[in-house]
Amino acid sequence: AARKNARRTITIFTSDMEEASRQRAAIAIDLRGAVQNGELELFFQPQNDARTRSLCGFEALVRWRHPQHGLISPVDFIPVAEETGQILEIGRWVLETACTTAAGWPERFKVAVNVSAFQLAQDTLPLQVATALSKSGLKPERLEIEITESGVITDQEHALKIVLALKELGVSVAMDDFGTGYSSLSTLQSFPFDKIKIDREFVKSLTVSPQSAAIVRSTILLGASLGIPVLAEGVETEEQLGFLQLEGCKSVQGYLFGEPLPERRAAKMIEAALESDDLSEDESGALA
Ligand code: C2E
Ligand code: MG
Ligand code: MG
Ligand code: MG
Repeated sequence: AARKNARRTITIFTSDMEEASRQRAAIAIDLRGAVQNGELELFFQPQNDARTRSLCGFEALVRWRHPQHGLISPVDFIPVAEETGQILEIGRWVLETACTTAAGWPERFKVAVNVSAFQLAQDTLPLQVATALSKSGLKPERLEIEITESGVITDQEHALKIVLALKELGVSVAMDDFGTGYSSLSTLQSFPFDKIKIDREFVKSLTVSPQSAAIVRSTILLGASLGIPVLAEGVETEEQLGFLQLEGCKSVQGYLFGEPLPERRAAKMIEAALESDDLSEDESGALA
């Protein structure tokens, strides 16, 4: 029976693997025309000051509007695009589109862009970033590049060169998904990050798991000791926000403040943020 079971498991496993690789192959083929056909879209998720709640900027998150299958998550096509090398073209499109969009916002709002391991492994990224900045007219200090640990571990030396070249351009660099990799601390030691983004996995269980609470608290403290501001991802509740405020977390991102929004809705959010700022200025004016 064990053998039968074992074989059945293997069969199911194999067919799943085959199905998965068929899907990946299909995605790779469909993805070929995606950039030229204008099938990629950027969504923008707000990032807010944890203490004042005010809007600071947005993270650009790519989606693929597939002609048959509808909106596809980056989780499903970015890994394929990395395998095929298509990520270079997609990455360039993301950078240029994010910079162009942000250049249309008031100066105080920043944009954060994700880059993946494959992009960091090339020499082209600093030039791509410089081109996106000059084409759009966006000031470098309004752009933040998010990299994950997996993006820098394969060839640390090369990745460090790229990160230093990016910082030379005047853009900031954030460590994304902090705590989920194999050597988050040594990565933090070797790279001059301007921000640490605590992964949402830890934030999710913050109020129910003492372990998660301790990890989040320690990460914020670590950031403070290193002089690096910490952003918490995946903030969904007031309770989580309260904890993060108390611990001195600098900024937050998550459904509590907004899901990733199409460009037009992000612009509406900016308008609303400016209006409520005017109001609070009026109020302080009235008080004075
Ligand atoms: P990430 O950079 O860690 O982005 C945050 C992800 O968390 C986003 O998923 C966002 O929609 C989701 N999220 C935000 N707030 C909440 C929340 O309160 N609760 C929950 N449950 N989830 C939340 P998304 O957009 O599906 O992106 C997934 C990942 O795909 C990103 O993770 C990033 O690693 C990658 N990605 C997205 N856009 C790009 C891109 O342009 N280039 C590259 N290389 N990777 C990208
Ligand atoms: Mg990110
Ligand atoms: Mg992240
Ligand atoms: Mg994450």
